[in-house]
Amino acid sequence: MTYTSTVNPADRLSARLPQALKPLAEIAYNYWWCWTPDMISLFQSINPDEWERCGHNPIVLLETVSFDRLTQLTVEPNYMARLKKLSEQFTQYMASSDTWSSRVAPQITAQNPIAYFCAEFGLHESLQIYSGGLGILAGDHLKSASDLGVPLVAVGLLYRQGYFRQKLNQSGWQEDYYINNPFERLPLQLLKDENDQPLVFEVLVRHRHVKVQIWKAQVGRVSLFLMDTDREDNDPIDRWLTGHLYGGNQETRIAQEVILGIGGVRALKTVGIEPAVYHLNEGHAAFCLLEVCRQEILKTGKSFYDIEKGVRDRCVFTTHTPVPAGHDVFSADLMDSFFAKYWGELGLSREQFLALGARRLGDPWEPFGMTVLALRLCRSANGVSELHGDVSRKMWTVLYPEKSEDNVPIGYITNGVHAGTWTSAMMADLYNQYLGEDWTTKVLDPQTWAKIDNAPDEEIWWRHQILKERLVAHTRQKVRNSRQNRGEDWSQVEATQHLLDPKILTIGFARRFSPYKRGDLLLRNVEKALQIFSNDEKPVQIIFSGKAHPADEEGKRIIQRIMEWCKTHQNVRDRVAFIEDYDMHTARKLVQGVDVWLNNPRRPLEASGTSGQKVCFNGGLNCSVLDGWWCEGYLTDANGKALNGWAIGEDAHTSDQVLQDKIDSDSLYDLLENQIIPLYYEQDENGVPHGWVQMMKASIKTNCPAFNTHRMIADYVAQVYAPGVKSDVPLTLAKVPQT
Ligand SMILES: *Cc1c(COP(=O)(O)O)cnc(C)c1O
Repeated sequence: MTYTSTVNPADRLSARLPQALKPLAEIAYNYWWCWTPDMISLFQSINPDEWERCGHNPIVLLETVSFDRLTQLTVEPNYMARLKKLSEQFTQYMASSDTWSSRVAPQITAQNPIAYFCAEFGLHESLQIYSGGLGILAGDHLKSASDLGVPLVAVGLLYRQGYFRQKLNQSGWQEDYYINNPFERLPLQLLKDENDQPLVFEVLVRHRHVKVQIWKAQVGRVSLFLMDTDREDNDPIDRWLTGHLYGGNQETRIAQEVILGIGGVRALKTVGIEPAVYHLNEGHAAFCLLEVCRQEILKTGKSFYDIEKGVRDRCVFTTHTPVPAGHDVFSADLMDSFFAKYWGELGLSREQFLALGARRLGDPWEPFGMTVLALRLCRSANGVSELHGDVSRKMWTVLYPEKSEDNVPIGYITNGVHAGTWTSAMMADLYNQYLGEDWTTKVLDPQTWAKIDNAPDEEIWWRHQILKERLVAHTRQKVRNSRQNRGEDWSQVEATQHLLDPKILTIGFARRFSPYKRGDLLLRNVEKALQIFSNDEKPVQIIFSGKAHPADEEGKRIIQRIMEWCKTHQNVRDRVAFIEDYDMHTARKLVQGVDVWLNNPRRPLEASGTSGQKVCFNGGLNCSVLDGWWCEGYLTDANGKALNGWAIGEDAHTSDQVLQDKIDSDSLYDLLENQIIPLYYEQDENGVPHGWVQMMKASIKTNCPAFNTHRMIADYVAQVYAPGVKSDVPLTLAKVPQT
């Protein structure tokens, strides 16, 4: 690589620490720690209160905590022994060359890695550059790529303020606000040249040359390059190009996508990386294809149509959106104002250029589609679940008039989650005991998970109950803060002390409040819902969390209905909670603590969904519409009885939305009343529901080996990145030293 960095920020942090604690600095600058539970606890134990206050950011923690406290740690033998062990583990992890990828796909090399482009990355709550599922998936992708040793670099945008923050006002209406990301106090390194000046490249945006600088975040072995236009030598408007994730209008959107796609290719060139494969995770990054073409034309002097095939061979695409309206398109006018100079550099006329993104050729009003561009210029395209693959083939037959729907070249690789990130330490400890300490390196192996049957029901249950208690405590704290901030009566604030009860059957519903996700489906029939929640003998409680996009009035209305519902009905006041400002921290608490994860989208609008998968790793049970990944996860026995979770509405589908909502909510009430609630409350004299725990075990055994990102990455390597490699090579990873 060509960049050198005179000041490594980890060195600056290290200078602050007593000699014996210096390894903490290097680890704080690598997100590896965030999926290493022992490391998290090592940071936390420095000062648990401060750890919460600083939003789980170890750099801020280490900068804030007193030198006395640090010195004190150096003489705690236990602490120092743990640090030594973890620091060796980290060094080993980073240095290991005998990885799964090196054995299975040695043709993918660090010299020519996979370059993974995405508009958002959800690595950890301390780095707020994500909004939801797409970003979390991208973050989990990087973590598994690192664990498996896949040579991969990632490219994204460093948003000054990221996605909006949510608060609800007195009438339950969502209000948005923004917080600056403190770049200098995050594990980010601004890349500089030998003169200590930031490495900068330019992108033409509208009619101005915008200067872009590059930050690097380290995710285990994977480098994530994040572009930032907030520089004093840029026009004030351009400084905000990387201000907000999914904010602004179409013009902001296209400008950001120009930076992400075209800028991303230039950023990699600037740091001296020549990727073997460009992976576009969703259409936002598709302009990258144009820039790869432009550079190839510059290099070879050939025409666009001569290099097109060679570029296709290097580019692959994952689509995430099952509705036509969800795909980014830009009007010809906008394209003119951003690309009038560019198409000439590709040696194309305006018509030829616009045709690259046109769904139907020859229609002058056809907008420029990012997915269309990606499908035209990538050698491989996939959806993110089996059903989503079907839906995508149907949706895009229009681009392949000579092919039947079944032969449209869009496949699928079902999404997964990163086990290390989403499994609670409490359950990981159980898995260590009963599946073996090496379970994290064998997550793909059903035999590993089958051993969960050896764990006593009691032991699973008490661990789960502790996690639920922590969820309740987290929820009370968050709701208390919210009530205080919105100026509710003191009695309301105090009432949070008896909000929720860990003994009660607890449902979680958290995700974007997009109307298709039907956040209020459970409340459709007010009488029925009241009956279920306020039942004295077998009560039910639910925790909601999630944001509606600022422009989504209907989504905000749904949140408001939920808030109004619990205000109106005093008898369910303690049984319904809404946690403001959903983020990865709240997500972890929820997926680790709930009994039942509810997901009731309008089918087939959930491309995959991943939060239900996170729940499986913690023993929670899914109750979901048969959409996205759950079509593949849900199992019944020979008599059609649910084995590892529940399916809402079974396979009944109509195109009448109102009717479908009714069918699905009735089915949900029926499941709750006749299956879920009775099973949960059938407990022995010690309060252990054995039938329920059986189902927890079934869910763990059947879902965990399939719906994790190690399996997903193995699929990407075998089917997309290096097609033809032996996909049946068992996925056993280099062992981490066990001391
Ligand atoms: C996992 C996760 C999501 C994705 O939710 P789905 O609706 O299941 O795809 C969104 N937001 C956060 C914070 C998450 O952790």
